[in-house]
Amino acid sequence: MTSNKPLYTDEDYMRRAMVLAAKAEAEGEVPVGAVVVYQGQVVGEGWNRSITQHDATAHAEIMALRQAGKVIQNYRLIDAVMYVTLEPCPMCAGAMVHSRIGKVVFGAHDLKTGAAGSIMNLLSYAQVNHHVEIESGLLADECRAQLQAFFKRRRAEKKAEKQARRVAESGVDDEGGLSGTHRKP
Ligand SMILES: [Zn+2]
Repeated sequence: MTSNKPLYTDEDYMRRAMVLAAKAEAEGEVPVGAVVVYQGQVVGEGWNRSITQHDATAHAEIMALRQAGKVIQNYRLIDAVMYVTLEPCPMCAGAMVHSRIGKVVFGAHDLKTGAAGSIMNLLSYAQVNHHVEIESGLLADECRAQLQAFFKRRRAEKKAEKQARRVAESGVDDEGGLSGTHRKP
């Protein structure tokens, strides 16, 4: 008896995207990861790199699309599937339409900037000539937890930083006297 079970499942690809998201986090970026799969092969991988590359367009999905285009030697990624841990923003959704990608599978919804249904839907916009199939919510809880943990940690770091600055700026040194510039010569 032969089995038609694919070698890798949607969940496997999403878990790979989560590993890439962790890579972004290790580089100080918001943890979002993306994988492009074409004919059962991973042809593109990306993670957020906007800060490290000084590039507002360096979102995980864009990075994955760029690599996939180079690998396939075609910017048109017809029948390819994008797996991404967070709902794409308008820029990335637009790039997906330009790439003619077949389908996007995303994890967590982005209620503030999501352009695959949350604030708008650019992927199946009536007047646009190409529609991208959308599947949402795959490993959503885990993808969301990854992002929430990052923002929670960053808030705590900012708070600690602020506290340290307040102590430094209070003008009182260890001996209780005025510090630095406030001291008369
Ligand atoms: Zn984006």
